[in-house]
Order: sequence, then C-alpha cells, then structure tokens
Amino acid sequence: VSNKLEAVTIVDSTPLAALHSGAALLGTPLDTEQQSKFATFLEMLLAANAEYNLTSVRDPETIVQRHFLESLALGRELDRRLLLASESRALDLGTGAGFPGIPLRLAWPDLRISLLEATGKKAHFVEQVVAALGLNATVLEGRAETLAREPRLRGTFDLVVARTVAALPVLIELALPFLKVGGTLAAMKGSRAGVELKESAAALVACGGEVIDYVPRIGSGPLGVVLVQKRGITPDRYPRRPGIPTKRPLGS
Ligand code: SAH
Repeated sequence: VSNKLEAVTIVDSTPLAALHSGAALLGTPLDTEQQSKFATFLEMLLAANAEYNLTSVRDPETIVQRHFLESLALGRELDRRLLLASESRALDLGTGAGFPGIPLRLAWPDLRISLLEATGKKAHFVEQVVAALGLNATVLEGRAETLAREPRLRGTFDLVVARTVAALPVLIELALPFLKVGGTLAAMKGSRAGVELKESAAALVACGGEVIDYVPRIGSGPLGVVLVQKRGITPDRYPRRPGIPTKRPLGS
C-alpha cells in the first residue's frame, strides 16, 4: 500500500510534465486521455518494480525519458516512413515490460500490435497493463523461435519492432520469419550497430532481408534504429531451435 501511495504522489508532478512537453517536441502530442493512460502505466511500472525486478530503470524521470519518450521517438521515425499505417499489423519482439510496444499503441491507437515476451512474469505484467489501459493488443507469451512456427503468426506482420533484444544477426533470424514479404524490421540499437551491421551479411542472405537504412540517433536518446526489409520468403528452417540463433549466430 505504501508503495502505491508513493507512486501516486510522484506521478502527480514533474515526470508527467516532462512526458507532455517531450511528446509535443517530438511531434506526437498526447491528449488528456493518452496522458492519463501513460500515468497509469508509470504507476504500474513503479509498483511492479518495487515488488520484483522488472526493468533496470526505476525512477520516474528515467522511465519517462528512456522508456516512454524513446519509444515515441521510434514511433515518430516509423510514422514519417509510413510504417504505422492504421491497418498495419505490428509485433514487438521481446517487449519486456512493454517497450516500445505499449507507448506505440497508446500514441497510435489504430495500430494492431502484438507483444511477444518469453519471460512469464514480464508477459503477465504486460497483460495486466493491456487490461488496465483497455488496449486492444495481443500478448504472446513464449520464445520467438517457437512462436514463429505457428501458421497464425508466421509471415503475417507488416512491422516487427525490437529494442535491445539480441545482436542484429540473431534478431534478423528471429524477426524475419514473422514478416510478410515487403515488411520491415525496426531494430533499436546502440553504438554497436555499425559492427553488428557488418556481422549481419550472412543472416540477411539466409533469411531474405536487406538493410534499407540506419539512423544512428533518434530523438534525444542514445539509441538509433536499423531498418531491414524482408525481400523474399524466409526458408522454413529459420529460426532454428530455441537458443541456437544466439549460441551460433548465422555467419559466425
Ligand atoms: N524491449 C524491452 C526489453 C528489452 S530486454 C525494452 O527495451 O525495455 C530483452 C527482452 O527480450 C527480455 O525481456 C527477454 O526475455 C526477451 N527475449 C530475448 N530473447 C527472446 C526470444 N528468443 N523470444 C522471446 N523473447 C525474448
């Protein structure tokens, strides 16, 4: 109970003002209802973090900057490239506590998004957030290697987003099977992106992808985005069994 009271007090003040002005600066202004949903999400993150280790980011200011605004900055970049069209089917692969998927869904309400996460407690938290905010979003609990083999999921998405989930060659093998031909993987990446791009040649060939752009920094955060387009059907043997893509990345 004390944690909850604390959280309510904190979210009444500056972090939400920072979200409000930060979102407007990015060109994605939030209306009152959207802001109150972000506030609820923030409270739930603070309460869950007090209970168990959900994300490494724990204070409200940093959650707003690193989780909320960084996700909105990605959305802005994707929207500019017409990758968030209203009928688009999007997948957040390795969503963790809901990033970037939940902020994307809050700011682009027409987006049809699925949130995929292997760790049960995180997937469960995301399910609670989706219910509390009344979002029409699907939570998929399981490993990408397994779920990518389900016919209802394989080759069905226009967009896969992933923030700091795996090295790029691994992510290409995990994500491309989910995409329709012509679909896009948007991988949020830090300063290792340049190296990982060089290491991704074999994975791109094997899975039918092509790097179409790399933006080193989006918004004011430390991350950039690598955009990979799926140009051809990914062979059935990918992704390999759970754990193998990480253990033996394609091309290594
Ligand atoms: N995208 C979130 C979480 C990053 S941590 C954020 O930026 O805050 C990476 C997450 O990906 C972890 O929660 C981990 O459980 C999940 N993950 C890693 N490999 C996965 C796989 N093969 N299938 C499903 N989830 C995976």
